[in-house]
Amino acid sequence: MRFGDFVGNESVKKQLSAEIDGGRFLHALVLEGAVGSGRRTLAQVIARAAVCHTEGERPCGVCPACVKAVHPDIAVFGEEDTPLTVDTIRRLREEAYVLPNESAYRVMLLCDAQNMTPQAQNALLKILEEPPRHVLFILTCDNRISLLETIRSRCVCMTLSPVSWEEAAPLLRARLPHAEEEKLRRAHSLFGGYIGQVIRGVEDGTFRTVLELVEQFAAAVTEVSELPLLRLTARLEKDKLLSIGVLEGLRLVFRDALVLSYGGQALLSTAPHEARRLSERLSEDKLAALIEQTELLQTALQRNMNNTLFLTRLSACLRQAVGR
Ligand SMILES: [Zn+2]
Repeated sequence: MRFGDFVGNESVKKQLSAEIDGGRFLHALVLEGAVGSGRRTLAQVIARAAVCHTEGERPCGVCPACVKAVHPDIAVFGEEDTPLTVDTIRRLREEAYVLPNESAYRVMLLCDAQNMTPQAQNALLKILEEPPRHVLFILTCDNRISLLETIRSRCVCMTLSPVSWEEAAPLLRARLPHAEEEKLRRAHSLFGGYIGQVIRGVEDGTFRTVLELVEQFAAAVTEVSELPLLRLTARLEKDKLLSIGVLEGLRLVFRDALVLSYGGQALLSTAPHEARRLSERLSEDKLAALIEQTELLQTALQRNMNNTLFLTRLSACLRQAVGR
């Protein structure tokens, strides 16, 4: 298989290549991964591979099926005009029984399948139990746990991981040609190696806001009053990407502060002054507690904890760590 702009995730690629190049086409696939992990990009690559006409490596990128902007045998659900309701799933079921127009397969791509209600999932289950031979279902989601066990057990599930800087750099440089190398590197680190987040963060200015907020949060952690922290927390309300970036930025500041307390030098954060100040103000135990709390919150956020719930916990967790 050829993967184009989908970089990293070598084991997933190997598995997919074995299935698809081996001629055994999958019938139902779940792609699980964080926002920006490339779920949608990979789903499109697989969909094109399914409809590509070539006998060689797919998708070839040059046959009529590959170059068509919209392919009649690839149907996408879960977008604004096709929310994953029971009605949409019923329509999907009807469409699935229609033979493909131009290709050997018809692909049904369900984006953000975690948004399906249990009723919609049960409606989908009916067709997954006995899928038409010519259909490939691809479901993308944050976390497979949000899908019914009966759906998961009928799908091949693959998990997308963050991409290392070395693997991501060529694509980031090509997609963001005006951003300096150092900026790309920092954005890659703050957004945890999820390329979609890095690109969006740099393009729409979220990255710059994250840098400012990280400094302000680090300063507010040691304040006696909770007000400054609460005020900053309110600024994260409108965008989960801000929360993701700020948490990782803070983790690096706390880590740097601990390294400095131990007499080390290797600093990674974007706010070295704040790291130094914290290392002078807080004990090593408190810094370690801050790192631990931040990591717990990161795990919760990656597991699709709701941003509002996360925000109610953030300030309390940080203050608890410093003994306020
Ligand atoms: Zn092709």
